[in-house]
Amino acid sequence: MNYKDYYQILGVPKNAAEKDIKSAYRKLARKWHPDANPNNQKEAEEKFKELQEAYEVLGDSDKRRKYDVLGSNWKEASNQAEQQRRYRSAQSDAFEYDFGDFGGASPGAGPSGFSDFFDMFFSGVGRRTTAQSTGFARRGQDLETTIELSLRDIYDGGKKSISLQLEDVCPRCRGTGTERGTLCPQCHGTGRLLATKKFEVTIPRGIRDGQRIRLAGQGGAGIGGGPNGDLHLIVNLADDPTYKRKGDDLYVDMPVSVYDLALGGEVKVPTMAGQVAMTIPPGTQSNRLLRLSGKGMPKVRDGGAGDQYVRLIGQLPANLSDKEKKLFKELASIRNGKR
Ligand SMILES: [Zn+2]
Repeated sequence: MNYKDYYQILGVPKNAAEKDIKSAYRKLARKWHPDANPNNQKEAEEKFKELQEAYEVLGDSDKRRKYDVLGSNWKEASNQAEQQRRYRSAQSDAFEYDFGDFGGASPGAGPSGFSDFFDMFFSGVGRRTTAQSTGFARRGQDLETTIELSLRDIYDGGKKSISLQLEDVCPRCRGTGTERGTLCPQCHGTGRLLATKKFEVTIPRGIRDGQRIRLAGQGGAGIGGGPNGDLHLIVNLADDPTYKRKGDDLYVDMPVSVYDLALGGEVKVPTMAGQVAMTIPPGTQSNRLLRLSGKGMPKVRDGGAGDQYVRLIGQLPANLSDKEKKLFKELASIRNGKR
């Protein structure tokens, strides 16, 4: 990432007055407007965008102050911002950004359509928006992240304490990135921080993989006295060693002896509500699925429950004794009609 010298781009000195920055921008924007450069459109477009970016920062007193403070410390600040960017992409598209009045982003550019340098320091928090510039409070960001829950967590439902790493507005500088004219020592100018927070979550019984739990007011901090955003937790069901879940039904593999399959019998089967006795009818084939009605997962909506399916896996006895071998041979010869 390259440092952007916005003063040089607008051709103004570092101490330029606001009105001089504005008039320099206007003059250059007229000169480089793509419509005014039909023979040179590509270069003009790039130049024009660069001018807009420079003016977006220098034409806004908050951003300009932050940019001035960044100065030679910008690399340190960029490392911090890079760490946060990697965190965000690791969360894939878990975070939603409000790009406000920046207009359409162009392919290949950052979310604002401006340079990476700009996005690192000026997109997101502390951005000039209609609400902010007119002094209105702004609601905090809605945040999204995944939580891994065990089948037991989901079956039981109820309260659970979880810790999550979330990115939020820096509490020290309240997202401005500066403190009394210097870089904020806590967030190094990015205005954002990763923090581990504890939450008390109420898990709805039977919630499905991929569904969301909303924690109202637990998202990003509000700006200027605005309300906090919400935190959305996306449920990710952890693999279970015993059960496979399909919808509200559960599937279990159950080893049973060939004798129980052939002659009928009773086996103890694990269910989420404890062991139950299940009757095997005589002459049952291996791999047959038996259903335990209502022993599956709770249904979120109607309070009912799914079923549990038990797959009976026939097990031959190992290490046969001489007598067993003799009897199996006898069984085989009877089946083959030799007796
Ligand atoms: Zn800070």
